Amino acid sequence: MTLKGRCSCSAIRYELTESPLIVHACHCRDCQRITGSAFVVNMWIEKKFVRASGADPKAYRLEGGSGRRHDVFFCDTCGTYLWSRYHIVSSDCLFVRAGTLENPVAVTPDVHIFTRTKVPWLTLPKGVRAFESIYKIDDVWPAESRERLRRNAA
Ligand SMILES: [Zn+2]
Ligand SMILES: [Zn+2]
Repeated sequence: MTLKGRCSCSAIRYELTESPLIVHACHCRDCQRITGSAFVVNMWIEKKFVRASGADPKAYRLEGGSGRRHDVFFCDTCGTYLWSRYHIVSSDCLFVRAGTLENPVAVTPDVHIFTRTKVPWLTLPKGVRAFESIYKIDDVWPAESRERLRRNAA
């Protein structure tokens, strides 16, 4: 299954040529502000598997809460935020916003992070993996994704 998405005005379209390594629901304050919502659903994937076409996205650099940089990429025409790059993540990966997919129900969060700032009216599904802040990749990721990340970093 190829995941396809676009910004609101369609100036930028993209295709993911591989499945995401992992899907995060992030409840941190930065993600809440940038989406204007309660949380964001991010697909963590190697940059080489994101095939973008059309206009070049603009970048805006946020200084992350941890002091780490975070570049946000968005459409210059309609302002839709399509993906991020976190400098804390060592290899060349993007975090693509699942809300920009043509079919956003194609992915489900594997893990919820930064639940310490989750809005109180939202109850997470029973049994879902959730962390107050971040987690250790070795504790959460399937072996196949860990191997892909290792190969990408090499
Ligand atoms: Zn656009
Ligand atoms: Zn976040």
